[in-house]
Amino acid sequence: MSLQIIKDAIAQNKMRCPTCKGSVQKFEKYVEMADSIWDGAGDSSRNMGTAGSKVTLICGNGSCDWKERTEFWNNYIDD
Ligand SMILES: [Zn+2]
Repeated sequence: MSLQIIKDAIAQNKMRCPTCKGSVQKFEKYVEMADSIWDGAGDSSRNMGTAGSKVTLICGNGSCDWKERTEFWNNYIDD
């Protein structure tokens, strides 16, 4: 479940801000893409395999104002 992954990454300071290299402090507006892009036209196969999630990541460190709305949040997780 990606919401849990994001929460854990932030809680463990693994979500990295690309600007200041600090750990991202918070996120908002999490949405499951499968829900948001469903058009109800019956073309369900189009959405298979592309289901993901989108979230706004907010650095929140000192004077850094980095913020990004992305579906590629996993790129910022430092493992
Ligand atoms: Zn930052």
